[in-house]
Amino acid sequence: MRNINWTELSFGYVKADYNVRSYYCEGKWSDLEITNSEQIPMHMSATCLHYGQEVFEGLKAFRGKDKKIRIFRMRENALRMQFSARGILMPEFPVDMFEKAIITVINKNERFVPPYESGAALYIRPLLIGMSAQVGVKAASEYLFVVFVMPVGPYFKEGFKATSVGIFRAYDRAAPLGTGAYKVGGNYAASLVAGEIAYEKGYSAVLYLDAKEKKYIDECGPANFFGIKSNTYITPKSSSILSSITNKSLMQLADSIGMKVERRQIPIEELITLEEAGMCGTAAVISPIYRIDDVDKNQSYIFSKDGKPGPISIKLYNKLKAIQYGDEEDKFGWVTIVGK
Ligand SMILES: *Cc1c(COP(=O)(O)O)cnc(C)c1O
Repeated sequence: MRNINWTELSFGYVKADYNVRSYYCEGKWSDLEITNSEQIPMHMSATCLHYGQEVFEGLKAFRGKDKKIRIFRMRENALRMQFSARGILMPEFPVDMFEKAIITVINKNERFVPPYESGAALYIRPLLIGMSAQVGVKAASEYLFVVFVMPVGPYFKEGFKATSVGIFRAYDRAAPLGTGAYKVGGNYAASLVAGEIAYEKGYSAVLYLDAKEKKYIDECGPANFFGIKSNTYITPKSSSILSSITNKSLMQLADSIGMKVERRQIPIEELITLEEAGMCGTAAVISPIYRIDDVDKNQSYIFSKDGKPGPISIKLYNKLKAIQYGDEEDKFGWVTIVGK
């Protein structure tokens, strides 16, 4: 890497200088190890390859006007990774080690943290995988935790923009009592076919309904769903959606600006009453939705006639970004400052 064009970056792998690892063996996690290798030596019968013993996380660090680097809510990611690990019978990675690993990997790759003006950020990807060689179906006895980073460009290169999403009733992402609430690779594998169909038809994402009754909104492939009406922020409650940290933060922000917040089932018919709708997650913070097509039912729900994001989505988006970049005071204690 000599000169990175920060604003041209999309979301893709960029080689940084170092990654940080810890090995779990005989019931203990090893001290953090810093390496410049991009490879993981692995036995061909490791459980992560055959039985999907894999959980991951995704978070970002931002450089402020003051040049300081701010990590957004990493403790929440540490706790969620523990929750996901328990969900597929993997050992928890300790929260304090997780935080230390994140801070170390950022410090070691400081030159990859984009400058404030670029609107880009450093994406941080922690991964936990089953490593021991076994073909019988049971949990591994050895694991690897690794965290690497890459700079990612601004999500909205041409400004904050709304897109359309599609409901495809022939596909589910996760079962009600399955692994939908855990951040596991298997959920993503399960969503690839529907995702491909949606992209081909011009949608930016699939919006999934609850798998059991197909009556309620669940979430989008990689992002939670929210709607706005009558000064209320509404987001689905379901056992098969992944609890988004961005969504949690938006709920707190909505509350702080005097909105009501409701986390409850959202019947699909209710879409017609929403004034605004959006997806939320670390990648975009908010990705506003101007139209939802229930493709198999030939029905459309339109939230924005001119295709522009609604005023509350804009307000929440700007507020959260401002806290992340240090432009607005971090009243909630969401940010960890690292580096000089
Ligand atoms: C990671 C993820 C999200 C977004 O969570 P954030 O913590 O806001 O990044 C939403 N849905 C799914 C399925 C995810 O895997």
